[in-house]
Amino acid sequence: MLQVERLKKAFDGFQAITDANLLVPNGEVVAVIGPNGAGKSTLFNLITGHLKADSGHIGFKSEEITNLAPHKICHKGLSRSFQLINIFSTLTVLENVQIAVIAKHNFDRKLFRPAKKLLVEETLAVLESFGLIEFKDQSCSSLSYGDQKVLEIAIALGSKPKLLLLDEPTAGMSPDETRRIVNLIKKLSQEEGLSILLTEHDMDLVFDVAQKIMVLHQGCTIAQGLPEDIRNDKSVQSAYLGEAG
Ligand code: ADP
Ligand code: MG
Repeated sequence: MLQVERLKKAFDGFQAITDANLLVPNGEVVAVIGPNGAGKSTLFNLITGHLKADSGHIGFKSEEITNLAPHKICHKGLSRSFQLINIFSTLTVLENVQIAVIAKHNFDRKLFRPAKKLLVEETLAVLESFGLIEFKDQSCSSLSYGDQKVLEIAIALGSKPKLLLLDEPTAGMSPDETRRIVNLIKKLSQEEGLSILLTEHDMDLVFDVAQKIMVLHQGCTIAQGLPEDIRNDKSVQSAYLGEAG
């Protein structure tokens, strides 16, 4: 599904990504772990086209996507969640998901065509499956933090991606909210066959949901493989798991 090879990225001479390598097999949940500042978010921004790589390759479904524009990458079936706090917070829950659903359908762009009635049923089905239907007419800003996070994922899935990227999906969540996200990730993977790439600082969660783990240390991939192999890897233990306790 996704293949990252020898990726490099510097910011003003600071080498944030020195040698990132990553494989996401079709239908698997893969976690990227590493200490703060390891380059996880930078790697995600390179994959989604929001940052340009200095060198290296990113392949998606055996197509080269390195340094394509973000909307082109999204259209190929790679989607990520964005923090809603920053965008569309005054639109209703239904409208937010509807925008994503409409975007996928490639309507001819008649500027003033009313969008309110487009694809309402498809949008309602998405809200139903995410347990958000009761909030459909509320503004996003009125939702609880956990519901907003679920909505962010629902919006990312509105475009029907093949691969979903989640950058620390449970950051700042209560244990109950975290469990809800974990169950959602498992459901999307097991029932929908979606491939998921995530970063996460909660190691229990990582070892619970991920089929493969990649360890990033100072911008470099130092290990990649099955969770039990990563747990027993000496270089990983000294670089990361040891530090984490
Ligand atoms: P992580 O997500 O693993 O915590 P990041 O990818 O956010 O790490 O950051 C990796 C390193 O790159 C950090 O040292 C960070 O300060 C630096 N960095 C990230 N984005 C930028 C930027 N836009 N400009 C300069 N430095 C950046
Ligand atoms: Mg980060």
